[in-house]
Amino acid sequence: MNILDSLKTIFQEVNAARSLPEVLTIIVTEVQAAMNAEVCSVYLFDETDSRYVLMATKGLRQESIGKVRLQMGEGLVGLVAAKEEPLNLQNADKHPNFVFFEEIGEDIYHSFLGVPIIHHRKVLGVLVLQQQTERRFATEEEAFMVTVCAQLSGAIAHAEATGALSKLASAGRGKSKEAIFHGIASSPGVGIGRAVLAQQTMDLASVPERYTENPEAEVAVFREALKSVKQDMRDLGVGLEGKLSSEELALFNVYISMLDDDSLGGEVINAIQMGQTAQSAWSSVILKHVRTFRHMEDPYLRERASDVEGLGKRVLGYLQQTSEKKGPLPKRIVLIGEDLSATALADIPVERLVGIVSLKGASNSHMAIVARALGIPTVMGALDMPCAELEGKELIVDGFSGNVISQATRTLKRDYVQRQREEQIIIKDLQKLRDVPCKTTDGFDFALWVNTGLRNDNVQSLRSGAAAVGLFRTEIPFILRSSFPTEDEQVAVYREHLETFAPRPVTMRTLDIGGDKDLPYFPIEEENPFLGWRGIRISLDHPEIFLVQIRALLRASEGLNNLKIMLPMISNLSELDAALALIHRAYRELTEEENYNLKLPPLGAMIEVPAAVYQVKEIGRRVDFMSVGTNDLTQYLLAVDRNNPRVAEIYDSLHPSVLRALKSIQEQAISVDCELSVCGEMAGDPVSAVVLMGLGYKNLSMSASSLLRVKSLMLKVSREMAEDWVDEALCLSDAASVGRFMSKALAPFALNQSKLAS
Ligand code: PEP
Ligand code: MG
Repeated sequence: MNILDSLKTIFQEVNAARSLPEVLTIIVTEVQAAMNAEVCSVYLFDETDSRYVLMATKGLRQESIGKVRLQMGEGLVGLVAAKEEPLNLQNADKHPNFVFFEEIGEDIYHSFLGVPIIHHRKVLGVLVLQQQTERRFATEEEAFMVTVCAQLSGAIAHAEATGALSKLASAGRGKSKEAIFHGIASSPGVGIGRAVLAQQTMDLASVPERYTENPEAEVAVFREALKSVKQDMRDLGVGLEGKLSSEELALFNVYISMLDDDSLGGEVINAIQMGQTAQSAWSSVILKHVRTFRHMEDPYLRERASDVEGLGKRVLGYLQQTSEKKGPLPKRIVLIGEDLSATALADIPVERLVGIVSLKGASNSHMAIVARALGIPTVMGALDMPCAELEGKELIVDGFSGNVISQATRTLKRDYVQRQREEQIIIKDLQKLRDVPCKTTDGFDFALWVNTGLRNDNVQSLRSGAAAVGLFRTEIPFILRSSFPTEDEQVAVYREHLETFAPRPVTMRTLDIGGDKDLPYFPIEEENPFLGWRGIRISLDHPEIFLVQIRALLRASEGLNNLKIMLPMISNLSELDAALALIHRAYRELTEEENYNLKLPPLGAMIEVPAAVYQVKEIGRRVDFMSVGTNDLTQYLLAVDRNNPRVAEIYDSLHPSVLRALKSIQEQAISVDCELSVCGEMAGDPVSAVVLMGLGYKNLSMSASSLLRVKSLMLKVSREMAEDWVDEALCLSDAASVGRFMSKALAPFALNQSKLAS
């Protein structure tokens, strides 16, 4: 095998491994073989005593595993970790940092190549190659090791988190089983409930190792699953007769016989009888065989690994369906999943939802926005959380810090329950501000509006005392369905919302799908979805969908006259002109040909693409109002995907460049006398809301759960102060400095906010 093939095999195997020791053993074994080295070892950082510990080795004495421990900077391993770069030595024993460990049996090794394993800027460990002869590892070999480490760091971090959890779970009674996973705080609050896995994963490697008290029942479940898969295979074979050669068709029979008792089936039944659950036993056996196939020399047989894997997933699918039917949902649900989207909410009773945790996504992902609208504590981007292991366990979702805690100690849980109580008090306190006009201390009137889209958040929106709906995301009712709604169905949904808020204005934004907002029945597969077919671009390409929506919006407003229509993702004036023309056409048809008694509602555009920032005047002259979408504007200005947890730290709307763009938008809007608001998430963050006030914005639209918190701060500051702060902030060098500066300036006023920032 060449080096690239070796890399591929290592990644595949590591991804299929189910525990940290397994991952590490695969790495040392495969790397040693691929590099033709005498020794390959891996050291990982142990947080309990801040040392790098030998965790797996091929070549050194196995007894030394767990015993050799080096501090940061100590020995060659510690040096690699401290310098965060590879170290390639021909005469390692002559290096001043060389430390001699007799028990390890390494005295005879002269050459040393150590490469740090870095994940999210943290040195997780060091991968080491050693050789008896004075061999200087070639630069290509060094590059190979760097590649292995860079690619595997994520898998190691993940396995480490999983491993920590099972290790803790097996600790003796009375000992803590607590495990903490870190993600991005995405919707404030604390939620305590039982984990429910959103969609069952079909990934064999993520099936946790579990044991059963009732092997007979598990065997029965397993036999049922095999029966279904065999039937599927037979049906498939019959369906493909005539389309495939007889040799290819014969493969289906091979698969069927692989499931028999004298083959895989029997092996799994044995494992179940030894105590494993059906899913767990099946996954272990299949993964073992997949590995064997992958190691075969014959390329044809190597290819068969994916057949076995496919068969494995199919049986697993049936096994998971059976277990899905089991057991009622808990009273308090923490929804967890690999890549949660708002569609997952359709499968659970939302009123029981107390927390959401997604491994992928960030705080401006659509899922997070919906969660904030619902006021559900949420953590996104908890990349290393082992979802499958946590199913059914009690979790605390800390939407303030981004931590997710499994099986918390009694003391910690008590603290969190106390925190929940304090939050309730703050919320109740804030409720007193509901009808207080939002006026700054120097008498400046501010309008606070809500963002909505779900029926469930109407109550909260009304309770917040919002003066209007500044953004109704119409894609949300579309997402929670299984096909495009008809015009009449849409009229009913829009009418309900317009009536609920009448006479307050409701700004309904036309469909903004694409990016991370996929409709289950209209999937869009693109390389760069945020730069692709999104928002108005789809609407203009599908006038049949757009016109139906516009007609439904207009019809729903009959007699209420509180509708405003807003267009998303405008990046060209021609798009705006075309969309406005279609709206006018629909209006004429309805009023002139179909006798509806309608007023043309105010029409507006979102400013959320950098191109639009430079054409605010032209856009403002064409429409009645504009609203700044800071979520998208920030991602496009900073070139940071709002949905990617890896770059979440550099996604920040307080970046001075974003603030300068916001200032320019505001000045241009004033010059053409066009109403302006902000409806991105920035408006709902109290500190950022003050910044927006200082920039001259008067209308802010945010999720209902943020509105009173923002108001409570606005009531304490003056517009003049805000303007002075912003003048200074605009000259700072980066978002972090702006954040620090504003938090410091606002510290004396933010009595109720302290909890939020912590
Ligand atoms: C925005 O981009 O700021 C916005 C309000 O729209 P969305 O988050 O729905 O893209
Ligand atoms: Mg947007």
